[in-house]
Amino acid sequence: MPANTILRLDGVRKVFGSFTALHGIDLEIQEGEFFTIVGPSGSGKSTIIRLLVGMDELTAGEIRLHGERIDQTPANLRPTCMVFQSLALFPHMSVGQNIEFPLKLRKVDPAARKTRAIELLELLHLPASYYDKRVSECSGGEKQRVALARALAFDPEILFFDEPLSALDYRLRKSLEKELKDLHARTGKTFVYITHSLEEAMVMSDRIAIMKEGRFEQISTADEIYSQPVSRFVAEFMGEVNLFDVSAFNDRIEGEGLTVAQNAATKGMAERIAAARNATLMIRPEYVQFLGPDGSADFTVEGKVQGIYALGSRIHYEIKSAEGQILTVEKLREDRYDGGKGDTVRLGWGAANAHVIEGQSL
Ligand code: ADP
Ligand code: MG
Repeated sequence: MPANTILRLDGVRKVFGSFTALHGIDLEIQEGEFFTIVGPSGSGKSTIIRLLVGMDELTAGEIRLHGERIDQTPANLRPTCMVFQSLALFPHMSVGQNIEFPLKLRKVDPAARKTRAIELLELLHLPASYYDKRVSECSGGEKQRVALARALAFDPEILFFDEPLSALDYRLRKSLEKELKDLHARTGKTFVYITHSLEEAMVMSDRIAIMKEGRFEQISTADEIYSQPVSRFVAEFMGEVNLFDVSAFNDRIEGEGLTVAQNAATKGMAERIAAARNATLMIRPEYVQFLGPDGSADFTVEGKVQGIYALGSRIHYEIKSAEGQILTVEKLREDRYDGGKGDTVRLGWGAANAHVIEGQSL
């Protein structure tokens, strides 16, 4: 095992009665990493975290911290800490008392406790005067910061977060996402974060694990998961995407109304598609171009404009292809398509922007 692996899971299984929530999970998390697990509701995210912090027992498998088994260690003896969506602060206590709570448990003397609490307030960008403020008088965002300060007061090696921002409104969530990323950098601690929002995961994480029905579908950097998903599930989870069922014969790619130019790039793709037998071609909406009458591209498809939706700085177009498939195109406002609904258009994109998902047809 490399020296910098902090947490390692081998064959971790969790069964509830006749239902298998985790199907033998393997995972290595590196020291100091911001690692995020993303997946739909019910995919097993909270179950993993509950096993890691010791709130629940695993059915089979092993969990190691710095190479030492911890799966049989009681929760209070594990050097980890959890931040929940429901913050579980003590509402009748002051901010300072809440933050100091872990230190009091450890019998740190009052003066040292206060010094540390003030440091943590500063780290979380809260004024020192909040030390005496009641938690019940704090806003949602402030409570979230107090909960983080209290978690850090435990001085855990790993901080676990189970959807801590999901109850907050959009703007506050966006600013706290950035603060969490910044806090991670400043503390140098290992953060293991759970969310069902891929956008949130992409903002903060060093690596992301995509979870589906108790298994990891893909574990990689945000960039790689976005541009090279291993499955249709991952591709669709990472936002809107255009998918074509494709096959290839004699270096020629065929599929769903596509016209494919014959060149070195498409030939290479055709070879991979032929070898995989079944394949899906993926193209993100922002890489699709509206082609003029003389325009050409590696891949082209014809269709009719069905919908135009302004989304702030970007515009979304829905195009129904001749084969009946709905395609999505996204343009920046300044690159907008001039025409309107009902127009017949030709769409195109380069092979370099398309990705082949091997072994998966629609
Ligand atoms: P997530 O956090 O990804 O939404 P969970 O890990 O909470 O999902 O749950 C995964 C699956 O395990 C769900 O189908 C859930 O119903 C089931 N599950 C979780 N805890 C229990 C339990 N204590 N008893 C029975 N089933 C459970
Ligand atoms: Mg959950």
